[in-house]
Amino acid sequence: MKQARGPTKLPLKVGERGNVVKQLRHHLAKYGYLQNPCHCHDELFCSHVGDAVEKYQLFFKLPVTGQLDQVTLEQMRKPRCGLPDLPITNGSQSDDGTIFFVPNGGKWNHTNLTYFFKNGTNDIGGTQEWDIVRQAFDKWAAVTPLTFTEVADETMADIRIAWEAGDHGDGAPFDGSGGVLAHAFTPPPVNTTAIAGDIHFDAIDLWATEDGGFWSPNQIDLLTVAVHEIGHALGLGHTNVSGAVMKPSYDDENRTLHPDDIEGIQELYGPPVVPVTGTFAEASLWALRSTGGYGAVKFDLGRKRKFVAWGTITMVDSLKDLDDDNAVAIEVFKVDDVETWKAVSGGDHWGDPGASSNVHQGAFVGVGQTVTVRLRSMHREDLDAYGAATLIVLDDPGRPGLELQ
Ligand SMILES: [Zn+2]
Ligand SMILES: [Zn+2]
Ligand SMILES: [Zn+2]
Repeated sequence: MKQARGPTKLPLKVGERGNVVKQLRHHLAKYGYLQNPCHCHDELFCSHVGDAVEKYQLFFKLPVTGQLDQVTLEQMRKPRCGLPDLPITNGSQSDDGTIFFVPNGGKWNHTNLTYFFKNGTNDIGGTQEWDIVRQAFDKWAAVTPLTFTEVADETMADIRIAWEAGDHGDGAPFDGSGGVLAHAFTPPPVNTTAIAGDIHFDAIDLWATEDGGFWSPNQIDLLTVAVHEIGHALGLGHTNVSGAVMKPSYDDENRTLHPDDIEGIQELYGPPVVPVTGTFAEASLWALRSTGGYGAVKFDLGRKRKFVAWGTITMVDSLKDLDDDNAVAIEVFKVDDVETWKAVSGGDHWGDPGASSNVHQGAFVGVGQTVTVRLRSMHREDLDAYGAATLIVLDDPGRPGLELQ
């Protein structure tokens, strides 16, 4: 919602009327909070609008009043992504209203994705804006098996990137400076059109990068928005996890994937793959308070082989708060993408309650081509978890008695 002309008397509540209510209704409908536009007068703050405002306040973790108050209006005036926040069809929600990563229903059926730049922006010198978008792709590539290759032929590209202004022919016109900054289209198969996976930035917004210096509050950090929109193009929707790049509003630079973003993208495409070329491989895993708490890796043995995999996890309970259920970390094995239900986990402190660390180990013998090891801390607020995963191939001809079963 953009700045209204003249002062607005706040709060606005059920029963009131006016042009601001009309804008409010538009904003709530655009982002999915007023899903079935009611047939009440378009300048009336009806009870349907009140309900939608409550949903909006819940999503943005504002005090739930059902009224358009100052904090709610300020949230609505923040620049944001043009895609809706509701309805949530695939996500999971915690008791406090946190909506964790949300698959948007789309998912590419190949991992070697391609992209093409249709144009750029003069706000950033040279073609540096393209380098920034490439950096944004690198961030997603680092936590998945996905690769992103630029192609010179638009028709060969999965993801086409463009700066567009106003009505640009895709049914979602841009609104000029402020408001909507960008949007992206859900990938196939739910989106069967050629525009699936494409990313558009609003050409009228003022795009910037650190290298050019931030000198105006209207400048928008391109890397922050590019990382977010690529998330949509890969199959993620909006969340309200604070610090996640997939939250819809632009507050400030937020260039680092949050563990919730990582968990979400790995739900779709799996974790990075470690090829096992010899008979031994290992990987470090960590789940830290500062970054949330999630780590995973997939060993690829190249073909079905017999292996032993084991993991070690150690936890540090930062609060030492005598709460002996707060040190819960879990490490899970999947073989050929099927959960084995073999896990290493720790819920009890060893030693006195509040002991600063405890160590758990587990081993798993199996047969398969891929072995996924995942480490997560369930209490992200006060627990740091560290781990290592090790895998040894057992079907080595030099090891009699361990032939493939
Ligand atoms: Zn109504
Ligand atoms: Zn978005
Ligand atoms: Zn567009």
